[in-house]
Amino acid sequence: MTAPETLESLYPDMVRWRRHLHRHPELSFKEFETAKMVADLLESWGLEVRRGIAGTGVWARLEGGLPGRTVALRADMDALPIQDEKSCAYASQVPGVMHACGHDGHTAELLAVARYYSLHRDTTRGARVFLFQPGEEQLPGGARAMIAEGALEGVDVIYGVHLWSQLPCGVVATRPGPMMASPDEFELEIIGKGGHAGLPHAAVDAIAAGASLVASLQYIVSRSVNPLDAAVVTVSQFHAGTANNVIAQSCKISGTARSFTPEVRALVRSRLEEMIRHVCQMHGAQYEYRYLEGYPPLCNDEAEAARVLAAAARHLPDCKVMTAEPIMAGEDFAYYLQEKPGCFIFVGAGREGGLSAPHHHPMFDIEEPAMLIAARTLVAAADEAAGSD
Ligand code: MN
Repeated sequence: MTAPETLESLYPDMVRWRRHLHRHPELSFKEFETAKMVADLLESWGLEVRRGIAGTGVWARLEGGLPGRTVALRADMDALPIQDEKSCAYASQVPGVMHACGHDGHTAELLAVARYYSLHRDTTRGARVFLFQPGEEQLPGGARAMIAEGALEGVDVIYGVHLWSQLPCGVVATRPGPMMASPDEFELEIIGKGGHAGLPHAAVDAIAAGASLVASLQYIVSRSVNPLDAAVVTVSQFHAGTANNVIAQSCKISGTARSFTPEVRALVRSRLEEMIRHVCQMHGAQYEYRYLEGYPPLCNDEAEAARVLAAAARHLPDCKVMTAEPIMAGEDFAYYLQEKPGCFIFVGAGREGGLSAPHHHPMFDIEEPAMLIAARTLVAAADEAAGSD
């Protein structure tokens, strides 16, 4: 048996690694066995490996035989607290934990890329840094800790991929500038004054104040944000009341606020605070409020996005390479892009006709050949970037 020489020949390994991880998912910052598997494989291929970066992260470096720039490639490794409802042989064996965002595929495809470079070291320009990151799904995210512990030292450019089930397998998509949102959250408790449901004049109705506030919050996007900018304010929880004959003393409201630029983000945040203050004042209620900053908006470098689109079009003629639509999900890859030029890439992993379950759904799965497309995209982009000035 000769060693595998192409990414295509590594595809069976990718599927095997991915299915193993899918069966054995681990939650954010608890990726102990995943990280061990990753680090053991990378070491066995002769890479320089750092274990335990950012807790359960793995950092690795490979020095090519030819001069060139250093390109970092990132995969996230964590699963979600969701019960896997698939019945396939590789369904999760861990109750209540599931790879429902495709991070198992990210880990497997980046392993294949590392293996590929280890077999082509002499003809590789520059260096490759491999970032296997913990905790993408849980604030504050693993990316910031990876950066703080030196993951980007000596790195010239960084790329990352997200397998995306809402795009069909065969699509490679990215865009210059803002591509993913800042997923901020807010938590509010309106504190009224409980009382008899028949005597409203002697109480402060927290439900009436809360309902009025939920209605008012809809005006932030429709009336305060420039209609040519994008933003979301969603109230996703509303809990109040105990009995039909009791005026609610407390109303708990929480939700998310999302946007693509720091300016819109600041505007939405300040309008939220103003509306909460004034609606509560209008109803004579008190409140406790917390605004939790999520990841920053993910903003691709213009030149790097152009490079990725050109490299993918040239090296993946069998794929549809296109400009991505921005989406309102968040990603802590945004932090790497605040430090280094780079680009985040969506690789379609859904079935034709939009039949795939959405991300974070109990039936979520990927079309596995998408992993090979992702690996080919990363290699194409990294080789181009390493050989440029
Ligand atoms: Mn994800």
